[in-house]
Amino acid sequence: MIKINENYLKLQASYLFTDIARRVLAFQAAHPDKEIIKLGIGDVTHPLPAACIAAFHKAVDEMAEAKTFKGYGPEQGYAFLREKIVEYDYRARGAEISADEIFVSDGAKCDNGNIQEIFAQDIRIAVPDPVYPVYVDTNVMAGRTGSADNGRYKGLVYLEGTRENGFIPQLPASPVDLIYLCYPNNPTGATITRDQLKVWVDYAREHRALILYDAAYESFVRDPALPRSIYEIEGAKEVAVEFRSFSKTAGFTGTRCAFTVVPKTCMAYDGAGNPHALHGLWNRRHGTKFNGVSYPVQKAAEAVYSTAGQQQTRALIDGYMENAVMIRREMEALGFDCVGGENSPYIWVDGRRDSWAFFDLLLNEAGVVCTPGAGFGKCGEGYIRISAFNSRGNVEKAMDRIKSALGK
Ligand code: PLP
Repeated sequence: MIKINENYLKLQASYLFTDIARRVLAFQAAHPDKEIIKLGIGDVTHPLPAACIAAFHKAVDEMAEAKTFKGYGPEQGYAFLREKIVEYDYRARGAEISADEIFVSDGAKCDNGNIQEIFAQDIRIAVPDPVYPVYVDTNVMAGRTGSADNGRYKGLVYLEGTRENGFIPQLPASPVDLIYLCYPNNPTGATITRDQLKVWVDYAREHRALILYDAAYESFVRDPALPRSIYEIEGAKEVAVEFRSFSKTAGFTGTRCAFTVVPKTCMAYDGAGNPHALHGLWNRRHGTKFNGVSYPVQKAAEAVYSTAGQQQTRALIDGYMENAVMIRREMEALGFDCVGGENSPYIWVDGRRDSWAFFDLLLNEAGVVCTPGAGFGKCGEGYIRISAFNSRGNVEKAMDRIKSALGK
């Protein structure tokens, strides 16, 4: 008899996006003439930069010629891309990472979800609340938690993000071995300073713990005082793995290219306390279960680092950031406390009421779709997330509608 992994039965059904879709459909059916503006899901809306498209086309043409055709590439990614990443994303910011510490993949979501495989079953895990759900669900699937009780899984340590701590959680009260951090944060849009991040790096060093640092939104950081990589913090190369993605940086959500940095100095321990380099374990896992990102996609990603690509991706992010600034300004003018929208594409709005009630109000009265904060965890209750990923015209229209709906 084939048996299932019963840990999957513990997973709380995520009603968030299905619930949103259901409410949007109901609204559309009742108001067929009303145009809905979506500022909910965190997907980009602008096309790929011209430099990436040109490189993509050229690489596809190479695949059509016997002389330039490529079969399987290196599982870890082509050197041409890994070397550009090192030069532009790390060396330029004073972080010494080498090309063979970069693992190119088809998504930060997969890497964030897969990495837990290389850790022991009985580790103590700290996850943020509100949270990007992948960190939690993949550990539930792996059997590292008990059942869910009132929205929280037994056995996980929840790092609470609140208005009081500015959505930068305090260190855990009891020791943990694995820590998930994400800055600029999804969903809150909060950013972390170097001093704040150093507290976590120091904690990890002291406890021989590991930080999984999700920097999928690093390209939105424009304030030079804020870190774009955890490796800007002294000692982080011993205790942190970093996840990056071209999804939001260059509009690759549908094209798929990302990378994970596993420094060779980063250690984890066996039952007897002997250190093992994570690099070798991840390399083994990646080589066994992954066969590389397609050559044309890696060529398109490499073009991000060309002079034209750098200008074009900057302009792309600037456009979204102008939307973010406008959303935050307008919501604050309406009297709401907000986090994010600076150095981040998400604006986290304290609705001072039930998340879903505020969601319904914006949908029914303004025809604007946001995301209810309660869907990201207990600490998200009372908040909504508004995303800046849309055209300027749509964001302006959405804010005008919200203003009239709220009576200003
Ligand atoms: N990490 C965070 C925090 C995200 O919000 C997202 C996407 O929304 C991802 C990772 C996924 O990135 P990718 O498209 O590279 O899988």
